Amino acid sequence: MSEIDELKTKLAMACRMLFLAELVDYSGHISVRIPGTDRFLINGHPISRATVTPDDIVTFNAEGKRLEGKWDLPSELPMHTRTYRARTDVQCVAHLHNRMVVVLSMADRQLIPASNPGALFGQGPIPIYQDPALIHTNEQGDAVARTLGDREAAILRGHGSIVVGESIEWTFAGCIDLEESATRLCFASLLGPVRFYTDDEVNRVSKGRRKMSVIQKVWDHYIAKARIAGLTENLN
Ligand SMILES: [Zn+2]
Repeated sequence: MSEIDELKTKLAMACRMLFLAELVDYSGHISVRIPGTDRFLINGHPISRATVTPDDIVTFNAEGKRLEGKWDLPSELPMHTRTYRARTDVQCVAHLHNRMVVVLSMADRQLIPASNPGALFGQGPIPIYQDPALIHTNEQGDAVARTLGDREAAILRGHGSIVVGESIEWTFAGCIDLEESATRLCFASLLGPVRFYTDDEVNRVSKGRRKMSVIQKVWDHYIAKARIAGLTENLN
């Protein structure tokens, strides 16, 4: 299998696992840079995220033009193109419509580490992009990229989130941890004042969590869950 075919298969798998984790619904997308190029892969616009195959993956360039693939590109593509433009270190971008992250933003609460999944993102609150409109223009994409800055996640108020990383696996694990962090914080907030982690606690927990062996373990766990759920069919 060629390197690009392998990437398409892994991206299709990531789409299905984000669906399984209820982090994307009928919308939401994940893209990856083809190593050493300014070309990228993403799931096609109309396809259910539960059944994406490598054949449903679309190739696009830095200007957001479709180069190959049978489906239209997602309408919020500028979030991907402008983030890749601003962040040459980023290899993979996911856009989620994740429930609990959105719930926190609706209540104007910041997502600050108060449990171990939150520590993956380091110290301080996850930045929040305040405009709930969908990201359809380069100007909006630039504004999201500015909000993200050098972080690995940003919340889109009332809408969802963007998570970036150095690989599909790393970004996927970030998606899982971002939502889990928000979910735990929402539940804890119902019980009373939340005890947030100190900077030292974030640093020490983060050190144990930001390891490729842990990231791979998250990926492998969701592959197993997807297999049990019957979501690993027709991937080749
Ligand atoms: Zn969206």
